[in-house]
Formats: sequence, structure tokens, C-alpha cells
Amino acid sequence: MTTPVSTSMRTSARSAYVPAAPYEQLIGADWIAGTGTFEAIDPSTGQPWATLPQGSARDVDEAVRAARAAQRAWGRTTLDQRQTVLLAIADRFEEQGERFAPLLATENGRPIREAHLADLPTVCAIFRFFAGVVRSLNGEQIPVADPETLVYTRREPIGVVAAVLSWNSPLITLSNKLAPALAGGNTVVVKPSEYATASVLEFLRLVADLLPPGVVNVVTGVGPETGAALVGHPDIAKITFTGGPATARAILGAAAQTLTPSLMELGGKSAMIVAEDADLERAVEDALMGIYLANGEACIAASRLLVHEKVHAEFVERFAATARRIRVGDALDPATEVGPLVSARQLELVRGHLDRARAEGVRFVTGDEPLDLPQDLADGYFQRPVLLADDDGGSTISGTEVFGPVTVVQKYRTDEEAVARANSTPYGLAAGVWTSDLRRAHTVAAQLEAGIVWVNRWFDLAPGMPMGGVGESGFGRELSLETLREYTAVKSVNIGLGLQRFPLWGQARSEEQGQ
Ligand code: NAD
Repeated sequence: MTTPVSTSMRTSARSAYVPAAPYEQLIGADWIAGTGTFEAIDPSTGQPWATLPQGSARDVDEAVRAARAAQRAWGRTTLDQRQTVLLAIADRFEEQGERFAPLLATENGRPIREAHLADLPTVCAIFRFFAGVVRSLNGEQIPVADPETLVYTRREPIGVVAAVLSWNSPLITLSNKLAPALAGGNTVVVKPSEYATASVLEFLRLVADLLPPGVVNVVTGVGPETGAALVGHPDIAKITFTGGPATARAILGAAAQTLTPSLMELGGKSAMIVAEDADLERAVEDALMGIYLANGEACIAASRLLVHEKVHAEFVERFAATARRIRVGDALDPATEVGPLVSARQLELVRGHLDRARAEGVRFVTGDEPLDLPQDLADGYFQRPVLLADDDGGSTISGTEVFGPVTVVQKYRTDEEAVARANSTPYGLAAGVWTSDLRRAHTVAAQLEAGIVWVNRWFDLAPGMPMGGVGESGFGRELSLETLREYTAVKSVNIGLGLQRFPLWGQARSEEQGQ
């Protein structure tokens, strides 16, 4: 069976994003070209749509210098002033951000309906959240034993933050790093993904006048050149990274040389447990959203579904019935539910995982049929939504992050077995349980080894809720008050209030003299 996607079903004419001006990097107050260029490809058509600057190590050095020069003054701004700037960024984006929906769809294949529903409002919500909590950026008064001692802490800026971004939700990832770093009084050098650079440059074009020059800088280009130059720069005070574990290892290697602290948001193979007493209809709906939102290119994707044997057959039937009807097509089409993968490389990777699963005998419940796409999308990077069945979870794909619209359903008998399987990968980003039993919900939530646990829902990331993983999913937390602490340094101030000091030095001599 094939998904009936045809030109006649498409509700809008294709209208790719057209840049208003050549793309340049932002260094200090200046927009500058790179030493070379590279092409941005529209993943729906496989055609180039923009030319982007390739930054050099020298550009990186100048950006870090600009950020250092701006840091002193920005670090001295009051919390009130930082709050005003963060709110102004959110307001500006809310007023003028609509055009970022077609931009995201053109840039990384994000279905345009999701860009409207998720990306744009989330950017505003993140900046407003940090505009609020910046007023809580206080130190503490520390109780100590000696009544004549006053100890308190100050939360101070750390300096220049290097923000290295992934491509899958570029504006949300940018906001997750920029808002708390600025709230903490730091300046920033951003290195967007080479697959999602334009949206980050456009965002900075939109809001740059709200910030003093040098407070935010953007250098662009491929990871091993521009990215490596940035994370290895000796004047970086903190690295904040979103991406894959292999890149994280390379970055941490560089950070080890300069002893630079890091925040790492990495991948996942997140397990949703569906117990026998779950509300099956809602569990299926959230499982579909959990894997197919953002074309399955989400770090928190529900890419493993552990379903109790008593409800397994019904769950699989319901899930597959909807998965087969999902409309795959042009990311710019508002009717599209799953768009193309970000790049030819990503499609190749996903297909490689599927080929291996097939060779290992994993059953395709749905998604193994060719796509019937219109001629203008023939060179796009499309993958039909897949549901695989691997009852005991023993296949390679059951333990590997695919980063595409592919999920694996497994069968379990006891809660202990479900928890053990959920915890069996090196990742630990998200996990969840569907149940109507309160005791089971709390018990399983406590036992799951993950930074985020959802009960009777998936994908909800309310600003304020710390977001991050354990194990190979990384360390550090975004999106929360916790995050403000990530971007500040604690200084302890210890004040002696009394005049008395126990005499420690020269006592032997005075005793001798007294004899
Ligand atoms: P990636 O690791 O390939 O690239 C991420 C960034 O690192 C890019 O900007 C890239 O240019 C840069 N980079 C590459 N090599 C570098 C080097 N040697 N030094 C410095 N920078 C370098 O990841 P990706 O393909 O962009 O994103 C997909 C991965 O990100 C997936 O594993 C996904 O799970 C993860 N992810 C995690 C989260 C989260 O919050 N936990 C969110 C989104 C994506």
C-alpha cells in the first residue's frame, strides 16, 4: 500500500524562502562575509536555495575578541536591564517571526504546520521564561557555625559562551542557549549547524539592534573547521552544545586542553512504556506524535514503544492504521504531516539502519513501501513513517538512535521487565509510562534512568521544567532555573564580623619569653 501523496492533493503552490540579502556572519557590530561559501539545500527538492558564509579560524578569533570586549559592560547590566532586553527579543519575534515558518521548512524540512505550532511560540516562551527568572538570579546567605562569620554567595557571569547548535530545531536550540547565557550576564559566540544556518542568521538580523554590539556574534561553517576553532579557543569560558555523542567526544577532547566547562545535550533512544491499564487511544496518539513530530528528527523522540503483551496487538493495529495515513510531502505544504529528512546524508543513514533491521529479520509493520511523490519532489529526502516490531528488543535498531520517522514496538510482561529494557541503552534523555495506576506511575518514574519522565503524555516541555539527559544523552540542564546556574559562577564571600581571632602563630616564642 502506498500513501496517496499526489500533486493534486497539495494545497499550496511551493514557495521556498527567498533571502532578502546575502548571508553574512555577525562579528561585533559588523556583518561580514566568510573566507568561502557553502550551499544550503532545500530538502524537499534537493535543490540549493541559499549561499552561506564559511567562517575561518580568524573569523572565530575576531568573534571571540568582540564577545570578550563586550562582556564587561554586559556583565554589569542590572537584572532589570537584561530582563527588558530578553522581553524585547520575544516581542520582536512574536511580531515579526511569521516568516520564519517558511524559512524553517525550506531550511531543514520542518513541516510548516509544526513550525507555526511549535517552533515559533516556543522561541517566545523561552525568552520570556528567562526574562522572568533572571530576577531570581540571587546568591544565598549560608548559615555557618560561627556567629561572627557572615557567608554569602554571588552569582556572577562566566564570560564568553560558545554555543554550538544542531540542525533539527535551530531556533529553539538557539533560544535554549542564548536566553540563559544573556540572562547570566555573558556574551555569546554562536556556531549554527551547517544544515540550519540561515534561520540563526535571520534571527540575529531581526534582533541585533536590541543588544549592544559584540554581545552576540555568529560564525558559520562546517563543524570540523569553524566549530573546532571555536570550541578550542582559549578565551571561551563555557561550551554549550547540542548534537550527537561522537561530536560531543571531539568537543570534550578540545575542552580538556583548555579546561573549559561544558553543557552537553546529546541524543536518545527514549522508551515509552504502555501498561495494560493505559488509556490506549491517548497512548497511541502520543506515541504517533512522539515519533513523527519533527519528522522523527528529535532528540526526545519516542523511538522505542514497550507495550504490555495484553494490549500489544491492539496498540500496534491502531498505531499502524494511522501511521499508514500520514501525509508525507513538501515541508512548505500546510497539509504535510511528515516532511523530508534534513539531508541526503541523513536519509542515507536512516536507510542504512532500516536495511540492517531488515537483514536481522525485524518485521516492518508499516513503512516498507515506496513513496509515490510528485515529480517536483523526486530529488527530496523523503522517508515514509515506519513502525518496526521487535518483540524482545534484541535487534540493533532497538538500541540505536535513528533520528528519523522510525520507531520500534516491543512486547513485555512485567513492570520490572519493561523498566530493565527501557534502561538498557547507554542513553538516558527521556522515558515515559502510560498507566491509570498511580502507584505504578510513581514507581516506574522513579526507576527509569532518564533526565525526563512523562506519565500519560509525551513531548511536553514546559519552560521551567529542567531538560537534559544522563549517560550518553549528556549533562547539564536547559529550559529552567537550573540553567541560569549553568551560566553563572558562584563566588563565596566570607566576612569576619568579630574582632577575636584564636592566636595561632608565635605562641611558642611568647611562652618561652614568659618563662
Ligand atoms: P552533530 O553532532 O553532527 O553536529 C552538531 C554541531 O556540532 C553542528 O553545529 C556541527 O557543525 C558541530 N560540529 C561538528 N563537528 C565539530 C567539531 N569537531 N568541533 C566543534 N563543532 C563540531 O549533530 P547534528 O547532526 O547537528 O544533530 C543531531 C544530533 O543532535 C542527534 O544525536 C540528536 O539526538 C542530538 N540532539 C540533541 C538534542 C538535545 O537537546 N538533547 C536536541 C537536538 C538534537
